[in-house]
Amino acid sequence: MRVLVALGGNAMTGPDGSAGPDDQIAAAELAMGAVADLVAAGADVVLTHGNGPQVGNLLVKNELSAAVVPPVPLDWCGAQTQATLGFVLLDALEAALERRGVRRPTAAVVTRTLVAHDDPGFGRPTKPIGRYLSHEEAAALIEHGQRFEERGAKGWRRVVASPEPQEILDAGAVSVLARAGYVVVANGGGGIPVVRDLDGTLRGVEAVIDKDLGAALLAQSVDADRLVIATDVDNAIIGYGTDQAQPIGKVDVDTMRGYAADGHFASGSMGPKVEAICRFVERSGNIGVITSLSNIVAGVRGESGTVVVPS
Ligand code: ADP
Ligand code: MG
Repeated sequence: MRVLVALGGNAMTGPDGSAGPDDQIAAAELAMGAVADLVAAGADVVLTHGNGPQVGNLLVKNELSAAVVPPVPLDWCGAQTQATLGFVLLDALEAALERRGVRRPTAAVVTRTLVAHDDPGFGRPTKPIGRYLSHEEAAALIEHGQRFEERGAKGWRRVVASPEPQEILDAGAVSVLARAGYVVVANGGGGIPVVRDLDGTLRGVEAVIDKDLGAALLAQSVDADRLVIATDVDNAIIGYGTDQAQPIGKVDVDTMRGYAADGHFASGSMGPKVEAICRFVERSGNIGVITSLSNIVAGVRGESGTVVVPS
C-alpha cells in the first residue's frame, strides 16, 4: 500500500514553535520514528511537509541583510526549505529505519507546482507571512511592491497569494523513485509555485501554496492508496472549542463536506486539511485520514483519527 504522509509544522519545530537547527532536528527525529513505524509495517511512504516557520526565518534574514546581500524571492525561499528539510528528514528517517532493522533507500526531490498566472489569489492576496512590522518598516517594503495589511496592535504583516495548485510538475520523478522502493520526501511547502508563460517557459512566482492542498494533488499524482495528514490533534472535531466538541471518527466524504459547510473547521488550520482530504477521497475513491503523528500507523488501518471514506 502506498501512503502519502503530510507532516504539519509541529513535526519540524519544537513544541513551543522554536525553530533553531537543533529544535528542527529533534522534531524531525520524533516525526521520523512514527514514519519508520509505518514503513516497518509494510507501507510504501511518500512524505511531504510544511515550511511556514522556516520560510519565516528566511524572510527575516532577507529583511535584515537587504543592504548587503540581495533579498531572494519567496519561490527561492520555498526551494531552499525543501532542500534543507529534505536532508534533515532523510538523516532522521534513515537512523529510525536502521534502529528498526529496516533497509529502504531514501531520497528528497525538489518539486515545482504549477499555478495559474491569473489565479484570483494574485489580485487578492490573503496569506499572511513573515513577522509583524511597524508602519514605517512596512511602508519601505510597500514601496518595493510588497502587499501589507494592518493587523491591529501587533502591527503590519505581509500578505501574499495562496493560489490553487494545478499540477505537481515533478510528480513523475517522485513516482519513479517510489516504485523503485525509495521513501521519498517531496513537495514541501506545497511545492515551489511556478507559472507557465505564453511561450511555454516556467517561472517562479511570489506566492505560497497550501501544503495540504499540495499534498492532496501529490497523493493523486503518485497513485497513493491513502492520504494521511499528520498534525497535533488526534481528530478533526465538530464544535471545536465549545462544550459540545466531538471528535470525528469514521465518516463519509459528503458528511464531512457538510460539517465544513457548517463552519466547523477554522480557515487557516483545520479547514485546508479537511478540504485536501475531501478532494483526495472524491477524486481517487480512496481513503483520507487526519490524525496525530503518533497515531499514523493505526490511522492507515482505519483504527484511529478522522477516517474519511467515499460516499
Ligand atoms: P499543522 O501545523 O500540523 O499543519 P495547524 O496548526 O495548521 O496544523 O492545524 C491544526 C490545528 O487546527 C489544531 O491544533 C487546532 O488548534 C486547529 N483546529 C481548528 N479547528 C479545528 C477543528 N474543528 N478540529 C480540530 N482542530 C482544529
Ligand atoms: Mg500548527
